[in-house]
Amino acid sequence: MEMEMEKSRVLVVGGTGYIGRRIVKASLEAGHPTYVLQRAEIGLDIDKLQMLLSFKKQGAHLVEASYSDHQSLVEAVKLADVVISAISGAHIRSHQILLQLKLVEAIKEAGNVKKFLPSEFGMDPARMAHGLAPGRITFDEKMVVRKAIEEAGIPRTYVSANCFAGYFAGGLCQIGRITPARDRVLILGDGNAKAIFVDEDDVAAYTIKAIDDPRTLNKTVYLRPQENILSQRELVEIWESLIGKTLEKIQVPEEEFLDSMKDVDIVQQIGLGHYYQVFYEGCLTNFEIGGQGVEASQLYPEVNYTRVRDYLKQYL
Ligand code: NDP
Repeated sequence: MEMEMEKSRVLVVGGTGYIGRRIVKASLEAGHPTYVLQRAEIGLDIDKLQMLLSFKKQGAHLVEASYSDHQSLVEAVKLADVVISAISGAHIRSHQILLQLKLVEAIKEAGNVKKFLPSEFGMDPARMAHGLAPGRITFDEKMVVRKAIEEAGIPRTYVSANCFAGYFAGGLCQIGRITPARDRVLILGDGNAKAIFVDEDDVAAYTIKAIDDPRTLNKTVYLRPQENILSQRELVEIWESLIGKTLEKIQVPEEEFLDSMKDVDIVQQIGLGHYYQVFYEGCLTNFEIGGQGVEASQLYPEVNYTRVRDYLKQYL
């Protein structure tokens, strides 16, 4: 009789978040014993609690812990072989991402974790040292976390997920929009920089595939599903073909875009900075994956990822 390899036990931190809830689902679907951190601080947030309870119904184990109680984090981490953090990205006032340093401390002390995936899931912060301030803070903070992980000698995988389709494809790359326009769109620069749009469920599926894979050990896994590498103009064309109408296009030159950043608050500036990097600089696709990088759709061709065209159909 063939021995089935035992599935690693997965602890998800930030599991009720936008990407975290999908990671919990993907982990359960792949048959991993799945633990989800339940923060003591959630208080009366009944929606969060209900989501946690729904995870439990689906077979997850809830683990109570708090970032302000080191021992509770150590105990939580001891339950798992793999820890995945999906904690919120940098937010200028609270720096949630740095809570991960506490997690790193706990993982270091617990000593049992075979793989840690910190909350990355965006562009590769190692390539963004030149990024515009203040948007760069997201990358800088992720690099602080990486440094702590590496100094502690914790085995790791970094997932570079590129553009979550819901934010970027859904809004046709319009700032402040998450649904596709039906009349006119602003084209960022010449609109030809190639971006990469990834369905959030696919981000989670690839992430779960990567956890037990020796090929991803201490590597960055880039999600580049080939057919979803598209420029903004190509994205808009797909939408136009779905609605059977041509949209009016207004180009936003680089200087105008940069100028527009001056009049907004810092949170918006961070967001605009990221759009700049992707759509003016082309930072997602202006390099070859090599060295410490591997590409997910090549590693896992069996994942039938959602094509942008199908993703956009939900907005019809
Ligand atoms: P969310 O904003 O949905 O938050 C995720 C979780 O973070 C929350 O559910 C909560 O976990 C935890 N959290 C938030 N604030 C606090 C706090 N003050 N104290 C403790 N925990 C807190 O995160 P996202 O899913 O949007 O982001 C996850 C990652 O994905 C980030 O690294 C981000 O940079 C990246 N990202 C990438 C995008 C892309 O297009 N590539 C787009 C958006 C994000 P809980 O309550 O469950 O404990």
